[in-house]
Amino acid sequence: MRVIEIIHTIAKMQSYAEKSRGKGNTIVFVPTMGYLHAGHLSLMKEGLKHGDDLVVSIFVNPTQFGPGEDLDTYPRDLEKDIELVRKEGAKALFTPDAKEIYGSRYQTYVALDKLPDHLCGLSRPIHFKGVATVVTKLFNIVKPHVAVLGQKDYQQLLVIGRTVEDLNFDIKIIGAPIIRESDGLAMSSRNSYLTPRQRICALSLYESLQNARRLVESGEKDAAKIIAAASDLIKSHPETTIDYIAVCNPETLDDVKTIEGPVLMALAVKVGTTRLIDNMILKP
Ligand code: AMP
Repeated sequence: MRVIEIIHTIAKMQSYAEKSRGKGNTIVFVPTMGYLHAGHLSLMKEGLKHGDDLVVSIFVNPTQFGPGEDLDTYPRDLEKDIELVRKEGAKALFTPDAKEIYGSRYQTYVALDKLPDHLCGLSRPIHFKGVATVVTKLFNIVKPHVAVLGQKDYQQLLVIGRTVEDLNFDIKIIGAPIIRESDGLAMSSRNSYLTPRQRICALSLYESLQNARRLVESGEKDAAKIIAAASDLIKSHPETTIDYIAVCNPETLDDVKTIEGPVLMALAVKVGTTRLIDNMILKP
C-alpha cells in the first residue's frame, strides 16, 4: 500500500523538502484548495511525468476571498481527498490551517501591477494579491522544482508564471489542460453548489465557448459579435448573471477587437449564487 505523509506545519514541510532535495529527488508540487476532482488529479498525473516526489497542498486561502465570497462555505472533505492524493502516488500532503500560514503579525503581500487589472481581477479586486502571496509562501515552504497548475484558472496561471519570473523563483511552471465533465462543463469544486436545474444552465458557458470557436473558425474576426453571441446564449438560460465575457490577448489579457491570431476567450458567470469561470483559446 502506498504511504503518504500528512503534514500540517511549515517547519515539518520545509524539513521534508530539504530531505527530499538532499536525496536528489525532483519535487513536483500541485497546490489546491481541496474537494478534489478529476481536474486536480490530472495535474498530479502530469506532475509525475516531471518529477519523482509529488507534493500536493490543500489550503483554502482566506486572503484570496473577498467579503461576501464563499470562504466559509467552500466545500471540504479532507478524508476523501487524502485517499485520492495517496492513490495518485503523492508522497506528501501539506494541509496547514490559516493560523499556521498567516500568523497574527502577518503583513507581507505579493501584488502584480497589470495582470490583475483584467477579467476576474475586476470583480475580485483582492483575489490575485491573495493568490500570488499564498503561492509565493507555498513555494518557499514546499521548495518544489516544478509546479503544475490548471489552465482552467487561466489568469491565475499567468499571474503565477509572472510572479515566478519576476521574483526569480527557480521553479518550472507547467500549465495543464481543462478537464471537463462528459457534457463539457469544466470541472470545479464549486459545481457541487449547483442545483440540478442550475447544472443545466451552467452548461451554457461551455456551449458559448464552442459556439465562439465555430464562429472564429468560419472566419468571424469581430470580437464584439462573438461576445454578443455568447451573451445572448447565456442570457437565454434562467438564473445566469454574466460577470464578464472577454476576447483578449492570451499573454497580456488586453482586449482584442479584431481577431487576427490566437485569442483567449474567457468568461465568468454566476449561476444562482455560484460563480463559474471557463475559457478557451480560439484560433482563426
Ligand atoms: P482549486 O482547488 O480550484 O484552487 O484548483 C487547484 C488547481 O487545480 C488550480 O491550478 C486549478 O487551475 C486546477 N484545476 C481546477 N479545476 C480544473 C479543471 N477542471 N481542469 C484542470 N485543472 C483544474
